[in-house]
Amino acid sequence: MFARAVADAHDPLSPGPAMTHAWLVTGPPGSGRSTAAAAFAAALHCPSNGCGECLTCRSAKSGAHPDVDIITSDTLSYGVDDARDLIVRSCIVPTTGRWQVVIIEDADRFTPAAASVLLKVIEEPPTHLVWVLCAPNPEDVMPTIRSRTRSVQLRTPATFEVSAALQAKYGVDPAMAAFAARASQGHIGRARALATDEAVRIRRQEVLRSPSTLRDLSSCFTAAADLLAAATEDARSITDALDARETTDLRRTYGEGGEGITAARTTKLAGKTLKALEKQQKSRRTRTIRDQVDRALLDLIAFYRDVFVMQINASSALINDEMRAQVQREAASSTTADTKQRWEALDHARSAVAANGALPLTLEALMIELKDPWIRQR
Ligand SMILES: [Zn+2]
Repeated sequence: MFARAVADAHDPLSPGPAMTHAWLVTGPPGSGRSTAAAAFAAALHCPSNGCGECLTCRSAKSGAHPDVDIITSDTLSYGVDDARDLIVRSCIVPTTGRWQVVIIEDADRFTPAAASVLLKVIEEPPTHLVWVLCAPNPEDVMPTIRSRTRSVQLRTPATFEVSAALQAKYGVDPAMAAFAARASQGHIGRARALATDEAVRIRRQEVLRSPSTLRDLSSCFTAAADLLAAATEDARSITDALDARETTDLRRTYGEGGEGITAARTTKLAGKTLKALEKQQKSRRTRTIRDQVDRALLDLIAFYRDVFVMQINASSALINDEMRAQVQREAASSTTADTKQRWEALDHARSAVAANGALPLTLEALMIELKDPWIRQR
């Protein structure tokens, strides 16, 4: 759908019918919502409809492109002031091409009041403006906004698709690809990291081993701190490379060197944009750590899922087949009721992480509950 829109958008006379001014990209975490949105923005500007390689494509994807605005939020909701601010920003006429693209990564976080402020510009946008809203589900976005957008729904790829992609795109060998696809549960970025980075695999192992280390209160605190440290490292391995490349691209976009008034103005503008980029990168780091903590919790949920499978003697394959011995020990030393209770604790921790709860406290409480699943009932 995006490809046809891009072709129509590049029509030199007037954009064809496949192009429209407001898009809603939805899909579960890991389905690549923001990646798809950024690739679309890049393709609208790229002279070869989104080659993915040129400076235009790269800077558009990182948000360093002057005509692509990527709005991320580290707060839980966008209020009326944020919406007004967005409208002002969106009215800026594009400097290099025909389109000014505004990507909103968490369109589900608009308060009703903010949504109604935005509604008007989404309904009758300036001709240069393209909105790309991202959210987990179409239902997460206010119906009034949803009905004015064209919807693109992404889905979680199946294990065999992830495995095939790892082999074809990154030359991962079949056994490793199968493991990474299974362990990532359809999250392609995670699958790639697991398949290509041994440190990521080791950290995952350690997180999955943590239930067997919980003997007393102090081991619970240690396990919580270790999980957070592992998630922070995983997050850094994702963001460090991105940060460096974006900064280089931004400097190149504004051209280093030159002289006279234009150069001075460019330097000033670049300095301002660089500050904005740094701020955006900082908030991405915070979000990525939270995302990686959530990944670790999903890994633990999958571990207890395996424990449950073994406890009820089901014949389904284990997600963590390589840890069969530990799964077996855990299954033998607890009941299905214990396992369900631990699931609940993990679920509870995930909600707290999503609601911006303090990570150390949340994880400590979780480990204590994993050690003693009935502690709340006592
Ligand atoms: Zn390109």
